[in-house]
Amino acid sequence: MSMDIVVPCYNEEKVLTQFFEEVNYQMKDYEWKIIFVDDGSQDNTLNIIKKLSNEFTNIKYLSFSRNFGKEAAIYAGLQYSTGDYVILMDADMQDPPYLIPQMIDEIKKGNDIVATRRVTRKGEPFLRSFGARTFYKLINKFSDVEIVDGARDYRIMKREVVDSVLDLKEYNRFSKGIFQWVGYKTKWIEYENVARKEGESSWSFWELVKYSIEGLVSFTTAPLHIATIFGFIFSVIAFIALLYIVIRTMIFGNPVDGWPSLASIILFIGGIQLLTIGILGQYLSKIYLESKRRPVYIIREND
Ligand code: UDP
Ligand code: MG
Repeated sequence: MSMDIVVPCYNEEKVLTQFFEEVNYQMKDYEWKIIFVDDGSQDNTLNIIKKLSNEFTNIKYLSFSRNFGKEAAIYAGLQYSTGDYVILMDADMQDPPYLIPQMIDEIKKGNDIVATRRVTRKGEPFLRSFGARTFYKLINKFSDVEIVDGARDYRIMKREVVDSVLDLKEYNRFSKGIFQWVGYKTKWIEYENVARKEGESSWSFWELVKYSIEGLVSFTTAPLHIATIFGFIFSVIAFIALLYIVIRTMIFGNPVDGWPSLASIILFIGGIQLLTIGILGQYLSKIYLESKRRPVYIIREND
């Protein structure tokens, strides 16, 4: 029974060695290898990986031609994995390696996936955790698959699950949704949030907002329906208003007043229209990118 650990790395020179040592320690009882996916790091990450791989035989790596994003790195790592089980984890120690033995125990009990979930967001800025909570509320209201609050990508999966995940070949990859979408029997392990050891989270607040919109657009078409409903409601209101004005003019003549309210109404409707076009645009851009059929990543070097 072999196990692969897939680790996306972007500028992780400060933590990589320590990360490997800890994982190595936790995995001492198993047959395993690690697949580092260097996502176009600009620092020494790749050199450190190479140095480690000279020292240890169970290290494989892929290095991208540029930064393609964590989702692409996950996809590449999973494609290169061959193990009966695959563990997916971050390099920055926010996915605590001490959970690995417990995860392996649970998967041996017959679960298909053992995934982890943070129960606190300690050490995170308020705006970020608030934003995250709102996002989960929103997406779960609209999406068919449940996106679990606090769910990490940190998980162990059986080969079948990995293959199913790889069957979803879309270009816009939203892993949190993809992992839920494929289904299977999942056991959740909860743990307290760990602050990042070194370096910085590469996510800015606006990147997170963008990521949330991606998630919504990838996993639900509800915004499109909402846009339609808006359009319908406003048409009905406009029609009633029109009737009212025509009848009023016929009875009372045409006194010229009410232009401020008119201006507000025009602005309001204009805003809704722009919003709706924006929503359409979001989906259109996704279709555009998917239709180009570009590869999800490009490998410059591997071993
Ligand atoms: N990562 C990556 N490509 C990127 C950004 C991040 O491969 O463009 C990796 C990163 O090295 C880490 C994991 O994805 O192993 C999670 O990144 P980060 O800690 O920045 O995200 P957070 O923990 O804040 O969600
Ligand atoms: Mg992190």
